[in-house]
Amino acid sequence: MIGVTVLGSTGSIGINTLDVLGLHPDRFTVVALTANRDVAGLYRQCLQWQPAYAVLADAEAARQLSRQLRSAGLKTQVSSGAAALAEVVALPETDYVMAAIVGAAGLEPTLAAARAGKRVLLANKESLVMAGRLFMEELRRYGAELLPIDSEHNALFQCMPAAGGGSLAERGVTRILLTGSGGPFRETPLAQLPRVTPEQACAHPNWDMGRKISVDSATMMNKGLEVIEACWLFDAALDQIQVVIHPQSVVHSLVEYADGSMLAQLGNPDMRTPIAHALAWPQRMAAGVAALDLVQVGRLDFEAPDYNRFPCLRLALAAMAAGGTAPAVLNAANEVAVQAFLNRQIRFTDIPLAIAYTLESITFSDPASLAVILESDAQARRTAREWIDQPRNRA
Ligand code: NAD
Ligand code: MG
Repeated sequence: MIGVTVLGSTGSIGINTLDVLGLHPDRFTVVALTANRDVAGLYRQCLQWQPAYAVLADAEAARQLSRQLRSAGLKTQVSSGAAALAEVVALPETDYVMAAIVGAAGLEPTLAAARAGKRVLLANKESLVMAGRLFMEELRRYGAELLPIDSEHNALFQCMPAAGGGSLAERGVTRILLTGSGGPFRETPLAQLPRVTPEQACAHPNWDMGRKISVDSATMMNKGLEVIEACWLFDAALDQIQVVIHPQSVVHSLVEYADGSMLAQLGNPDMRTPIAHALAWPQRMAAGVAALDLVQVGRLDFEAPDYNRFPCLRLALAAMAAGGTAPAVLNAANEVAVQAFLNRQIRFTDIPLAIAYTLESITFSDPASLAVILESDAQARRTAREWIDQPRNRA
């Protein structure tokens, strides 16, 4: 039996992961489930999965969960805080860690899973954006395995040459094509963008996701974060990656080879496919996802992204080109700006303005250690909040 710890089990990726695990009770057991504050959600999951451990971010929430589980006769050990997350990922009975906490909060536990030499199923792209070099070094040092869950990167992983080391060029790869749907505002008149609501931004045409990544998809910051993620995962340079708008979300990404071949991975837009792929790799197993009906899909469209409409995509590429802690600064400013938009403090079109201000205000440094990265993250959060709290700045 393979023991799986799910970080962020009450979220969109966490729930999809448990769905897939439920199809294969003969192969996987759940070791630990974790969430931020959702006591009721984690309680229900514990009743169903009876994990040995459960972790909540908050100590009072953890005491509450512990009492409820005791009355239900469960022996699940409940703990709280960042240290508890680092402990459950490193347990000997944890073989695989699904890293599905949203945002910078996912960095430390995901890094702990790498340092414990586990198979890391990486949904938390923010980890790689903030600490790509450190994270990839630690994976190698501790012999951990990384399987990408982000649908595009999972597609790329599936289309990459199977064996052999060396650079992309040495392996015959000329380019990586990252597809993105363009989100809910791909065709919205630009003049209406300042008035779009969080509800509209979170209503993605093809994917059902958490609120933060939904807003990131609407601004296309998500695709920018994914370009950075792909650079680290596949050791690619920025100019080896092309972003392509593909509204149907059926072609999940493509690898272009020196001989003119282009390999793509296709499927219905359902995260259970990459999750099942990463859990079963190098084998294949059922994900509960219907086969793609190409005749019903009918057509596949592709177009170039419009940087005017999606300034966040441009900012992300610029941050990666700047290097150092710039991507960590970008990520932190984006998290603060997205939260302010969701709280109706700023407009949708203020998001890139807050991020651009933060990137211009901060001097980047060498992201040599976790401490440096976390300091840049904190500084960027303060700077973005300053901008947001200054009403005259807003569009
Ligand atoms: P979500 O908001 O639905 O769930 C987030 C989970 O993390 C929840 O279980 C929540 O309790 C937990 N969490 C949040 N803040 C926390 C904190 N401070 N400490 C501990 N736990 C915390 O998010 P999601 O859509 O499932 O996305 C999770 C990650 O996967 C993100 O990094 C996202 O970019 C990535 N991802 C998601 C999708 C998708 O389809 N949802 C696709 C690709 C990548
Ligand atoms: Mg993605």
